[in-house]
Amino acid sequence: MRWEPYQRPPKDCIRITETSCCAAYEWAAQGGHFLILRPTYEPGRYEETARGRSRQAREVWAALLAAHDLRHQNEEAARAATERKERTRGSRGKRAA
Ligand SMILES: [Zn+2]
Repeated sequence: MRWEPYQRPPKDCIRITETSCCAAYEWAAQGGHFLILRPTYEPGRYEETARGRSRQAREVWAALLAAHDLRHQNEEAARAATERKERTRGSRGKRAA
């Protein structure tokens, strides 16, 4: 997937109609095209991808959201594993005392 710096043409207004989980991505329409935006590290600046027809852009959008969800699931699994480890350590400590 190729991300390019988003440069808003001064006269072409952009409509953002959806914002994904964590505001990681934004679904936008501009001049009869659809595109996906994501914020960069620089505040107020965006990168865009998948500019084009609705269907193609929508597929990219779905893939991005699925990848994002997966990241949350991995975080959740890692957190649960850490908690499990801590609980085990904790109960071992109590038994030893
Ligand atoms: Zn999220």
